[in-house]
Amino acid sequence: MSLQQSAFIILTLISFGFFGFTIFRLAKIFRLTKKEFRFDKIGERTVTTLLVAFGQSKMMKRPLAGILHAFVWWGFLVITIGSVEMMMDGITGNKKSLSFLGPFYSFVTASSDIFALLIIISCIIFLCRRYFTKPKRFIAPEMKPSSRTDATFILSLILILMVTLIGMNTAYVTSDSNDYSGSFPVSFYFTPALSSLGPEQITTLEKTNWWIHITIIYFFLNFLPYSKHFHVIASVPNVFFTRLEPYAKLNTMESVTHEVKLMLNPSEQSADTPPPQRFGVKDIEDVTWKTMLDAYTCTECGRCTAVCPANITGKLLSPRKLFIDLRRRAKDKAPGIIKSGSNFSDGKSLIGSDYITEEELWACTTCMACIEECPVDIDHVPFIVDMRRNLVMEESKVPSGLAVMFSNIENNGAPWAFSREDRFNWASEIYYGNK
Ligand code: SF4
Ligand code: SF4
Repeated sequence: MSLQQSAFIILTLISFGFFGFTIFRLAKIFRLTKKEFRFDKIGERTVTTLLVAFGQSKMMKRPLAGILHAFVWWGFLVITIGSVEMMMDGITGNKKSLSFLGPFYSFVTASSDIFALLIIISCIIFLCRRYFTKPKRFIAPEMKPSSRTDATFILSLILILMVTLIGMNTAYVTSDSNDYSGSFPVSFYFTPALSSLGPEQITTLEKTNWWIHITIIYFFLNFLPYSKHFHVIASVPNVFFTRLEPYAKLNTMESVTHEVKLMLNPSEQSADTPPPQRFGVKDIEDVTWKTMLDAYTCTECGRCTAVCPANITGKLLSPRKLFIDLRRRAKDKAPGIIKSGSNFSDGKSLIGSDYITEEELWACTTCMACIEECPVDIDHVPFIVDMRRNLVMEESKVPSGLAVMFSNIENNGAPWAFSREDRFNWASEIYYGNK
């Protein structure tokens, strides 16, 4: 085994070891959340995933950004095959381990080569957009400077990845010009640029690009879970486990349904039925694993906030911020629970001045525009409604307008301020008036 092979195997083990450690830590956070069954209708889920996640259908609502993002995503999928081959090459010491695939190999290498160029163009446009045209949805109180730094860093890494890929392929095609495997239409175009180099220099150039490329891939893999770009990994499962019912259909609360059933049929009372621990969502332990996955999938693109009528009319609510806050809260509180047990408290909660305020929650009109717009099928409204349920049912905190409505329902059986006896006055006036 050569020195290079040994170095590569050690690098691979460290990289996957650290990635496994990160996923293990994330799994601990998810274990704190509530169970929810999302394994039904596999066929429908698969079609939705193909359309929304792989087909990028919701991204295309904004065609230019949509198609550029699709280039990056589709390119990422194709180039991953090449990355797997590079790992195989690095471990075995061979070159182009997948070349036995024949015409399919040529198809994959040609697609990767073309996508590499398209990704370079897309990343440059994305960077220009962030720094020069500055879309309004990227400027908001919840968008901290670190968010822009994160995006710039990732876009720069992707650019270097693609440049080294083309550099490596160009050197490979130049050095093995008579007998190379695969097809490289873009890299082939650049081969004249290397015509003045000798064989050794070309080999060095190929190896240098190879090492830079694979090292960045490993770094990228380990950096993703700590950045908003985790959606590269999380978006496919998030879309697959999306809620398939109509957006406006909200879930009922199992504990309340249970109480109502008992009122209707007290004989169903069972000593085994545990009392509900909490109504709605107050903190991270109350959200379901899918809501937590939503938080880790959010790309902070701001498409939801850009269409939110509450946000547009100057209210405090930004649907994007809710999931940024949930992720932040999970990061702040989960280590304490994992270390000290479920009774751990840091004196704060998800609802409150440190994270999501009541004012934000009550500003939502439940219009569902945010869900409709979100390219990775994040489900904002059930999360908002569950936090409101907690405020109403446990804290008795409601805006004054709603307090009047609740009191009317309690006293009059309707949201209006008229007693039951007067409810048909309008009809009797018409009836007697016509007589
Ligand atoms: S459902 Fe609420 S958060 Fe979503 S767009 Fe409508 S008002 Fe905004
Ligand atoms: S919730 Fe969806 S639309 Fe909103 S910022 Fe996150 S990914 Fe974008």
